[in-house]
Amino acid sequence: MMFFFIGIFGIQDKQRVVKEFNNVVCACGSLSRAELIEEYTYFHFFFLPLFKWNKRYFIRFRCCNRIFKVPEDYVSDLKHGFDIDIDRLEEISKINMNICPNCGATIEKSFLYCPYCGHNLK
Ligand SMILES: [Zn+2]
Ligand SMILES: [Zn+2]
Repeated sequence: MMFFFIGIFGIQDKQRVVKEFNNVVCACGSLSRAELIEEYTYFHFFFLPLFKWNKRYFIRFRCCNRIFKVPEDYVSDLKHGFDIDIDRLEEISKINMNICPNCGATIEKSFLYCPYCGHNLK
């Protein structure tokens, strides 16, 4: 009976770009584009996502691929604003980072998939 359930329901992590920012100044000093990335865990049944939890948000700058963690109290401001206040973000690109074996991008260790090329890191 057990095998019947395998693949029918499960837990997965997903990432998606929820917003793009143009002409924002990165920590490296260049005027760049940045993406607000939402990462969440969801429970699915028959490929239908039933509920999501553990939402995390990141900002990624295009110029130098720096990644910043967005604190929870800044998420809605970012979603509705047009600018990014770097002082309110926490840079994570230098800590707990991995290199994607497929494309060489620097990514957070907890990522299951490379956000740059989609490579499965598990
Ligand atoms: Zn930069
Ligand atoms: Zn990659």
